[in-house]
Parts: sequence; C-alpha cells; structure tokens
Amino acid sequence: MDLFDKCRSFTRADETKALGLYPYFHAISENEGPVVMIEGRKVIMAGSNNYLGLTAHPKVKEAAAQAVQKYGTGCSGSRYLTGTLDLHVELEGRLAKFFGKEDCLLYSTGYQTAQGIIPTLVQRGEFVVSDKDNHACIVAGNLMAAGAASYIDDGQQGVVRYKHNDMKHLETVISKLPVEAPKLIVSDGVFSTSGEIVDLPNMVRVAKKYNAKILVDDAHAVGVIGKGGRGTASHYGLEKETDLTMGTFSKTFASLGGFVVGDRPVVNYLKHHAPALIFSASPTPASVAAALAALDILEKEPERIDRLMNNARTMREGFKAMGFRVGEHDSAVVPVIIGDTEKVLIMWKLLFESGVFVNAFIRPGVPPGMEMLRTSYMATHEAEHLDKILAVFSAVGKKLGVIN
Ligand code: PMP
Repeated sequence: MDLFDKCRSFTRADETKALGLYPYFHAISENEGPVVMIEGRKVIMAGSNNYLGLTAHPKVKEAAAQAVQKYGTGCSGSRYLTGTLDLHVELEGRLAKFFGKEDCLLYSTGYQTAQGIIPTLVQRGEFVVSDKDNHACIVAGNLMAAGAASYIDDGQQGVVRYKHNDMKHLETVISKLPVEAPKLIVSDGVFSTSGEIVDLPNMVRVAKKYNAKILVDDAHAVGVIGKGGRGTASHYGLEKETDLTMGTFSKTFASLGGFVVGDRPVVNYLKHHAPALIFSASPTPASVAAALAALDILEKEPERIDRLMNNARTMREGFKAMGFRVGEHDSAVVPVIIGDTEKVLIMWKLLFESGVFVNAFIRPGVPPGMEMLRTSYMATHEAEHLDKILAVFSAVGKKLGVIN
C-alpha cells in the first residue's frame, strides 16, 4: 500500500464537478459586499460572514492600504520576537475595553485562537467539557489537549462532550468528573451552522456549581448579538461570569485574525505558553488596521447591527412563509434545511445559475437529516437583494418539490 493511494482513489469531488454540482472553491473576482462576481456571473452573496458588510467599506480599505504604506506587507515574525507592532498592542487594548475585560491577546486566525487557548490551559489531570457541535477549531484544540497531557491516572480522557446545547446533559457529564479536577467548559456562542445561541445562563449555573471556567467562541456573535454587538455574554448580561471570550476578525471585522479576552493573568499565561502564538507569525499590518477600522465603525454605528438583524429576520420569516424549514434562532445565520444531499447540491446549482450564492452543507459536515443551504446576511443587503433571494428560492424550491 502506498500512502497516497487514498488520495488517488478519492474521486467524489471530481465526479460532483463533472455533474456541475460542485459548490466549493468557486473564485470570486469582484466583491462589492452584497453582490459579487463569480466565474463571470454577478450574484447576490447570501452566504458570507461579512455580517456588517465592512469588507467593502472605504474606511476599512483605506486603513489597510495606509498600514501597508507605513509598516509594509508582513510582520515576518511571531509576536514574541519581531512581530509585535504598535497596531497589535492598540487593537488588543481597544478590544479589551470593548468587551469590558482586563486584557486581550491576538492570534493570526480564529482557528489558531482555539488551538492557542484550549491545550495551553487544559493540562494533565484537567478537563475540557465541550459541546458536541462545537466548531472544528475547538475540536482540534480539544484533541491537542487530550493528546498532549490530559490523561489522568484512572484512564479517564481529558476531553468529555455533552449533547448539543443541552445543559442538563452538561451537568450529567461534568458531575461524573473528579470534583477536585480543574475544568473548562467550551462552546460556540452562536453556532456557525444553525445560528443557534448557546444557553449561557444554564451553563453559568453548572459552571458555578462544579467550579468550572467558561470559554465562549463568539466568531458569529460579535457584531451580531449583545449590546452594541458585544457578543453572547453581553446578550445575556453575563459578562462577569464568562471567563474567556474568543473571536475572529474574518467575519464582522472584515479582516483576518483572532483574539481572546479575559483576566490579565490568564491572557498573560497564554501569551507566554501558547505554541499557536509563539511559533506563528503575527497578523499582518493590513489585517490589524482593517480590524481596528471595523471596530471603530462598529462602535460608532451600532445601527448597522439593527439593519443586519432586520435583514435576517425578514429572510427567516420569508422562507417560513413559503414553507421552507428554517433555523429559528435570532442571529445572522438562517439555515434552510433540506435534509437530502442530492437535493441540496441540485438546489445550490439552480440558485447559483439564478443569481444567488449560498453555502451547501452536507454530511459529514452536518448530522444526517440536517443537510442544508446555509444562508447568512449582511447589514448592507438592500430590500431588492432580499426580495430576489426569496423569489429565486421560491422558484427553485417549487421546481424540486421542496415546497409546494
Ligand atoms: N470559530 C467559529 C465558530 C467559526 O465559525 C470559525 C470560522 N468559520 C472560526 C472559529 C475560525 O475563524 P477563522 O476564520 O478566523 O480561522
């Protein structure tokens, strides 16, 4: 057997391409925000995480361009050594203040942020207690924590999972762990696929009872829910009870990078122990400057969040009225659940050909029966865009017998 045999016999993607049903890796050549050019076709983007529409904002673009002029194109080093700019320090200070926490640490992506936090904090004899549907970066962080040092003497593994957003099951799971063992509960704040918001109040209750700390991944929550877009903890008024909030710049902040906010000693520990930070180059000047400009806009123009939420609500209600099965959660993600892989792929293709781009989520990315077209909205979608998306979904849904 050759190591690469499995690669050569992997033909599914090519077969799907040959049928014209391949929904991934389509190159965008122009991006105005709600409307993009993909392979010569102008389409309405209804699948981006550019929630406030800031990737096309003149101030954000200008900030990135100026940073390139001033600092060059890259940092060529880790934060630890030659890769710290005054811009990084400024953004960390601004984010700590925005979230009302003592300190903040930037990472180069959101994915790396989870990997920089979980295995660094959770060590031998300690536990990660994780939602079964958490984002892949949390799963990766958990695996590293389990693999590195977290096996305790009686053979119990350092990572345990509870049923999705089920705080009763969280309590069942956590109550079986050694009382004295330190524990970290980890969850998405807004789940990326379903748009569901974590039941933080009950999580906090369990965390207090079992002396556990909480890490919330607010990738899809910042700029979307909470006061002025301050995320899940703020949504519930539980900022003090939420020990660590992490996020990304690749969504609301129209850039690239990740961050965590929390108490100073914890952030300081991560800063000096997280391999994902120490051994990886820091976010580029343009990325940091763009995120800073996006934060300025978020702080000065919170009405953008109202527009975003109104757009998402309009779409949720619109899909429901037509008879589609949709996620009911009040966030910017509106999944249209189809429940069948083939139908999802055909529907994706017909939508694209009719001028609407959405994300096709099929197994193993989603559980059986949850195959879906994940739609997500921007503050900059206008009524005409939303009307067109609904009209196209209606026509395609009827054609395929998904709705009547
Ligand atoms: N967490 C969640 C919940 C996400 O959805 C994502 C991105 N899809 C990430 C983390 C990773 O963020 P980044 O794109 O910055 O790597």
